[in-house]
Amino acid sequence: MFKGILIEKDEAGYRATLRDIDEAGLPDGDVTVRVQYSTLNYKDALAITGQSPVVRRFPMVPGIDLVGAVEESRHPGYHAGDLVVLNGWGVGEVHWGGLAEKARLKGDWLVPLPAAFTPSQAMAIGTAGYTAMLCVMALERHGVTPDQGDILVTGAGGGVGSVAVALLSKLGYRVVAVTGRMEEEPYLRQLGASEVLSRDEFSAPGKPLAKERWAGAVDVVGSHVLANVCAGTKYGGTVAACGLAGGMDLPASVAPFILRGVTLAGVDSVMCPRPRRLEAWQRLGRDLDIDKLGLIAHEIGLSEAIGLAPAILAGKLRGRVIVDIAR
Ligand code: NDP
Repeated sequence: MFKGILIEKDEAGYRATLRDIDEAGLPDGDVTVRVQYSTLNYKDALAITGQSPVVRRFPMVPGIDLVGAVEESRHPGYHAGDLVVLNGWGVGEVHWGGLAEKARLKGDWLVPLPAAFTPSQAMAIGTAGYTAMLCVMALERHGVTPDQGDILVTGAGGGVGSVAVALLSKLGYRVVAVTGRMEEEPYLRQLGASEVLSRDEFSAPGKPLAKERWAGAVDVVGSHVLANVCAGTKYGGTVAACGLAGGMDLPASVAPFILRGVTLAGVDSVMCPRPRRLEAWQRLGRDLDIDKLGLIAHEIGLSEAIGLAPAILAGKLRGRVIVDIAR
């Protein structure tokens, strides 16, 4: 038996409980990992609360991120004792995930723990931080450079947003952070934001085209916010869209794309091919100021994870949550 969170859905309803789980239930995979830390992402909170149909197989162990030591391996790339990181690939959605003491996974999904980080720091970054890096790489692929002007980051107080602000500022961009919590302005400035704007400026329906302000943007919010960000992006600029914290819809016009050549670059971390993942983790080791992880992330025990999930969905948590599986 091992300890973990189990999500069940049956006649008795949808529920997540911390309990002892039978090892015989572990899914197929060629690597078994003794999990040390996991995280609580927005998607984990959706899974735990059942607020959106993220979990597609029951019973399910949630947790889209994990770091731990290989216990047993039939995969040629991994041996007992290796420290590995897992992000995405449907883990915590269709395959048992990281919010438990044990996980059995496909070796091809794993990334060796980058030398730059401790296991806990890797989870301070987690899927949110790795997605922020993918967004920055998307801006770079589309030719956005620091000399072109301001970069906007929405949902800046959350996990993806916080890491994006820290990364972009270290890379020399002038970062403008958007938040619904103006009381977080000192935090966002500490992360490297040069200016902090209220979400109110972006959340109402806007015009198809607005004043050209942003050379690029990282958006985690979607809906009217993303539409307004596109409308205010400069000629030839790029918006990396990765989230839906404000809604799944996109009530926009094509005007920014056809009149200003703006690019809307979609970013997905879950099925992102392995070479790009490895590149993202390597870049994080180089381009993220490790000292800022202490500001961004705080640690909780596995026993606190279920109770904290609603606060994430309510947008009340700042930065990232690391989950220590041992407590
Ligand atoms: P968090 O909950 O940590 O952060 C989301 C932030 O969005 C909040 O902190 C808040 O920031 C803002 N926000 C929350 N609710 C609303 C709202 N109703 N309207 C506008 N803004 C809101 O989540 P993550 O950073 O982990 O994830 C952000 C989004 O990105 C989620 O939608 C998530 O599903 C998605 N995501 C997508 C990935 C992919 O592969 N495409 C990978 C990882 C995440 P503030 O208070 O500062 O405004």
